[in-house]
Amino acid sequence: MKMNKEMINSLKELENIQVIAVSKTRTKEEIDEVASMGLTTFGENKVQELVDKYDEKYTWHLIGHLQTNKVKYVVGKAVIETLDSIKLAKEIEKQAKKHNLVQECYVQIKISNDENKTGLPIEDAILFLKECEQFEHIKITGLMCVATNTEDEHIIINEFEQMKELFNLTKMMYPEMKYLSMGMSDDYKLAIEHGSNTIRIGSAIFGQRNYDIK
Ligand SMILES: *Cc1c(COP(=O)(O)O)cnc(C)c1O
Repeated sequence: MKMNKEMINSLKELENIQVIAVSKTRTKEEIDEVASMGLTTFGENKVQELVDKYDEKYTWHLIGHLQTNKVKYVVGKAVIETLDSIKLAKEIEKQAKKHNLVQECYVQIKISNDENKTGLPIEDAILFLKECEQFEHIKITGLMCVATNTEDEHIIINEFEQMKELFNLTKMMYPEMKYLSMGMSDDYKLAIEHGSNTIRIGSAIFGQRNYDIK
């Protein structure tokens, strides 16, 4: 297979960095192979794919937009990195309560100007966290973002720095706040330099996705 073993080894050596191997569009066999090389936390962006590939031996993160009607399929199975509305929080609370568990979530911040991207405006984050204190079955342990897709490093660095500032502020308010999920294959080094401690790496581990090259 086309797995990048060197890349996996260098990612494993990163100190105090949580590495999420983004396995969207990959098979269970590919996932098992990466796990056998030592990365056992996987990220999926679609609920259906996550459910299909779910294996309780591994840790799972949902990194794509979550619709309220699909919450029931992921609660208790994956860290939800894409909490971005009270409506969604209410449904997560309901489902987590029903299953008598506490659901770990990150709040997704819409840091880029890209109209297609989901997430909460950064200026709403503090109030949102405050509102979420009412939910006894939700534990918010992180912030997540996807930076603007651009060649211009200045734009990306500016976004990472805004996230770092928000993260530092929220860490002072909430002891459970631990993870800043930012950085992907192309920008994870930059992200770590600017405060990230959780990176989501797909193509650099698994090779290019088919839908990238078609
Ligand atoms: C696909 C995806 C990634 C990984 O992207 P690569 O460029 O393949 O590393 C990270 N985060 C999110 C939200 C994604 O959808």
